[in-house]
Amino acid sequence: MSELLILSTITDHMRSRIEAAFDATVLADVDQDAWLAQYGADVRFILTGGHLGVPADIFARLPNAEIISSNGVGYDGVDTDAATARGVPVCHTPNVLNQEVATTALMLYIAALRNFEAEIANARSGNWEKSGNLPLARSADQRKIGILGLGRIGKAIAAKLAPFDPTIVYYGRSQQDVPFPYYDDLVAMARDCDALICVAPGGAATHHLIDRAVMDALGPEGVLINVGRGSVVDEAALIAALQEGRLGTAALDVFDAEPHIPAALRALPNVILTPHIGSATVETRHAMGDLAIDNLIAWKNGQPLISPVPESAGLL
Ligand code: NAP
Repeated sequence: MSELLILSTITDHMRSRIEAAFDATVLADVDQDAWLAQYGADVRFILTGGHLGVPADIFARLPNAEIISSNGVGYDGVDTDAATARGVPVCHTPNVLNQEVATTALMLYIAALRNFEAEIANARSGNWEKSGNLPLARSADQRKIGILGLGRIGKAIAAKLAPFDPTIVYYGRSQQDVPFPYYDDLVAMARDCDALICVAPGGAATHHLIDRAVMDALGPEGVLINVGRGSVVDEAALIAALQEGRLGTAALDVFDAEPHIPAALRALPNVILTPHIGSATVETRHAMGDLAIDNLIAWKNGQPLISPVPESAGLL
């Protein structure tokens, strides 16, 4: 018997909180088929991650599931339609990671403009002594920066960029009451910007929103930063644009088929690649784990969920 089924990886901190509050099983620790056959009907609560979601074949074997808590703000891997159809609300972990992901975006922005990875390699390899300095980098100050996805994290990115005295503009489906100019055309915004920062969610509505036309509009000096979802960028078009010099630099934390990064992308000199570390600090993962568990505890105690996803509103 086990009331909580854990599909994602958990930190030690999460494990100790879970052990204090739930009778729980980590699916990776047991023989999946045999366990689901014997105990699947006992499961009331599911803990997962936004990429992994709850695979349909597993969800089908949890007939008494009541809630899905997804550890992460993006939940494009969770089939909210399937959950809603079964009356199962989904919750996620917004806000607690805004500052960390914004720091990651800022880190990639500065690294791209100031050619940081190549400069470090030039010093560490001894090439500086042999061959001298690299060509001059570009300043990160006073740039025009377009944000695709000016939501919770996008606004934190804009705030963290402020000391660089940028001109911030944004694109989204709707104009907001913010002090930044709005574009209703992503290509037009990219044409006007030095850098485009993507922090939009994944899913069908944003699939390949950053296509060849957007990359060509950014141009040979342009910088593309993606801390949103890999699926928002047409990765094949990106590789071609970088290889052909139609786009200047890409700094990417997210990829189409994670953890796979195409060899052609890894081989390019004008990319900075990080392995989806947007929120990956002890402090922020601690806060995310707490929120994911607090949602489950609230549900277990018959209290309102703290952070349900909008798609579940009709169930609550
Ligand atoms: P949020 O507050 O919901 O903001 C999302 C923004 O995207 C909104 O401004 C929304 O504006 C825009 N948007 C949504 N759908 C769109 C569409 N079809 N076309 C254009 N714009 C669209 O979400 P958040 O908390 O800031 O998180 C954003 C995303 O960041 C997450 O979904 C996740 O994918 C990603 N993320 C990545 C990491 C990482 O480790 N790299 C960590 C955390 C989050 P409109 O509604 O006006 O269109």
